[in-house]
Amino acid sequence: MASPTLFSFITEQLADLKARGLYNTIEPLESANGPVIRMGGRSFVNLSSNNYLGLATDKRLIDAAVQATIQFGVGSGAVRTINGTLSLHIELEEKLAAFKGTEAAVAYPSGFNCNMAAISAIMGDGDAILSDELNHASIIDGCRLTKSKVIRYSHSDMDDLRTKAREARESGRYAKIMVISDGVFSMDGDIAKLPEIVDIAETYDLITYVDDAHGSGVLGGGAGTVKHFGLSGRVDLQIGTLSKAVGVVGGYVACSQAVADWLKARSRPFLFSTSLPPGAVAASIAAIDLLQESRDLQEQLWNNASYLQNGLRRLGFSLGPTATPITPCIVGDEEKTQRFSAMLYEEGIFAKAIVFPTVPKGTGRIRNMPTSEHTSEMLDRALAAYEKVGCELGIIG
Ligand SMILES: *Cc1c(COP(=O)(O)O)cnc(C)c1O
Repeated sequence: MASPTLFSFITEQLADLKARGLYNTIEPLESANGPVIRMGGRSFVNLSSNNYLGLATDKRLIDAAVQATIQFGVGSGAVRTINGTLSLHIELEEKLAAFKGTEAAVAYPSGFNCNMAAISAIMGDGDAILSDELNHASIIDGCRLTKSKVIRYSHSDMDDLRTKAREARESGRYAKIMVISDGVFSMDGDIAKLPEIVDIAETYDLITYVDDAHGSGVLGGGAGTVKHFGLSGRVDLQIGTLSKAVGVVGGYVACSQAVADWLKARSRPFLFSTSLPPGAVAASIAAIDLLQESRDLQEQLWNNASYLQNGLRRLGFSLGPTATPITPCIVGDEEKTQRFSAMLYEEGIFAKAIVFPTVPKGTGRIRNMPTSEHTSEMLDRALAAYEKVGCELGIIG
């Protein structure tokens, strides 16, 4: 064991985080992550999951997972390239490609993995990546795995992107240039300006890469942000996750057949991390089938989102630029944000505070995630708690 003094930086920094209200305590759930959850023996209206469509507890998905687990076991036994590719993985990838309207799709153990995999498999030394400053942490880390020049552009600022794309192209310094954006920004709920991004990309010959973790299952009739804007066939790589609206776990890259073949040959998580377990794959297949059969769950999700957002706005809260079910309630100061969340908790509402470094300093917020499974009674309980706590903290009048 190393001498304890080597770890004193941890003790000091943890104390500092706690003093500044930036330390996140994690409380385990004693129930499924549904619209109502149990923690510490109490039940709460849950406004913090990504289980948008309630599929994490859907009977049809559970049955599919159980059947596949009985048939294939709990684990897949190997990485994809040795013998961890089951017929189920191929079926899932074919379904995902059809769902997204692309030639092919490649599944990975997580959405985070996809960004580790795809960015570094495609971009290298002598290339440049234009990246929105609010892109997800997994995109930032994926970019770090390349030796490419990373050029950040101001959030959704299309003039800035256009200028930087032109400069990068005209410099003649880069072999390939890629533009990367979240489809839906997870902390604010705003949608990327994809029509302009694609237009700029076509002007300056950029590879387009959209991480649609929060758009898939939610926008474009479920197919995501690219479909929402009618841009199918004009985006090179689309990342999706199987862990949010799809309700299970895993991620995928939807792309051309050539890119998929390359990812299967070269992307490191595909080669070096054990493939998704059979139960998760079968449940994901069932979810994609459901999403293609009916839009009822999506409609219910959007109805609930409007109900909650209208209610919060009527109370006087500021929700920022959201255009999706993601419902941030902006508080600002980090400590006050944490206090707000703790007071909601006392009222039986679980809505997590999101503070620096997940979001910029001074923009602390309670991020509410309505789902299709919430009843209006649950949302009314949440709104009543928001009114009480908002008044007590002097955030609303
Ligand atoms: C959640 C998220 C991921 C990670 O997906 P997981 O499947 O949870 O690993 C990647 N990108 C974005 C934009 C996300 O919101």
